[in-house]
Amino acid sequence: MQAAPLVIDVTGINKRFGDKHVVKDLSLQVREGEIFGFLGPNGSGKTTSIRMLCGLLTPDSGRGTCLGLDVLSESAAIKRQVGYMTQKFSLWDDLTIGENLDFVARMFGMQGRREVVDRALEELSLSGRRDQLAGTLSGGWKQRLALASCLLHHPRLLLLDEPTAGVDPKARRDFWEEIHRLSAAGITVLVSTHYMDEAERCHRLAYIAYGSLMASGTAAEVVASQQLHTWEISGDNLQGLGQALGQLPGVDLVASFGATLHVSGRDEAQLKASLETFLQGKKLAMSVVSASLEDAFIYLMQGTRDPLHG
Ligand code: ADP
Repeated sequence: MQAAPLVIDVTGINKRFGDKHVVKDLSLQVREGEIFGFLGPNGSGKTTSIRMLCGLLTPDSGRGTCLGLDVLSESAAIKRQVGYMTQKFSLWDDLTIGENLDFVARMFGMQGRREVVDRALEELSLSGRRDQLAGTLSGGWKQRLALASCLLHHPRLLLLDEPTAGVDPKARRDFWEEIHRLSAAGITVLVSTHYMDEAERCHRLAYIAYGSLMASGTAAEVVASQQLHTWEISGDNLQGLGQALGQLPGVDLVASFGATLHVSGRDEAQLKASLETFLQGKKLAMSVVSASLEDAFIYLMQGTRDPLHG
């Protein structure tokens, strides 16, 4: 199968706000129809990176294209083909559902606004609620309406900034089904998230910490890149063992997973020897498991410290 064309192709992108170097030498490629996830601690530059990739913010330096257009000099033309859903969904609570959609259609200077809005309402199964105030909708419905508004002008690239913060699990699942339908129709999606299950729904991921891209690729590639060996410890009274385990030679990471602990390290032999000694005489079992994406992210997170705040 031939690879889909590159929709984003940037090299060495930088952004500073005052004396803060918020995005450092970012190079990234995203293919058409890909769902590309951005993860990392708060304030790491995810939003700033995404905004630069989509022409919403001009990089200080670097070069590259988005949708075949230059990210430094053609941002206005890029922006017209981008749908942007911010964390707060940017709806007007005191406008009706119909008015919200009409406002967005007007903003994009769309022809035949009435039909455009009618069609969007129909697709959302909200035709009967045209005159209801948007502020009275549940979190999940607000999110659907916000997504529909972002799609009114038929963007080729969709940018979602923590789109499921504050919506219930069922609505989150429906939302991701919709994102996959859009992706199958050729729309490229950039999404920032803190949720592991959402990260796993992305085709590829980037982990960004303090302005630097620390890892990228499919979930499996990101996990493999951290070269972790992981043992699962199970049994009673695991509470309080985490700290002691964390001190053992060969142990780089201890993370709770439900009723078990995941203990990981890069040095396979040392890790195994430490665990076997530690568990002697204890009523605990250890078994090898594959490191999960969450293990990899926790490992990445503890390996990176904010250079400004120690
Ligand atoms: P993230 O999305 O990973 O939480 P952001 O890209 O929003 O991170 O922010 C990265 C850093 O840049 C933060 O320290 C934030 O305060 C700063 N920042 C973001 N936008 C601006 C701006 N317009 N002016 C000044 N500082 C900003």
